[in-house]
Amino acid sequence: MKTTSCPVCSSDVIIEEGLAEKDLVGCLNCGAELEIITWQPLQLNPLEEESDEENDG
Ligand SMILES: [Zn+2]
Repeated sequence: MKTTSCPVCSSDVIIEEGLAEKDLVGCLNCGAELEIITWQPLQLNPLEEESDEENDG
């Protein structure tokens, strides 16, 4: 198990074994959803919140 800093709140984020690039992890401190951009070095990108409402199109 490894940890890295949350790009949102700078808290430690736990990266579980078996995760890979483009997988999602959650920050336990601020609840942000983070996408693993690159594994080496480990970089996370916060996902933008999407609206739950569906637009009729
Ligand atoms: Zn955070």
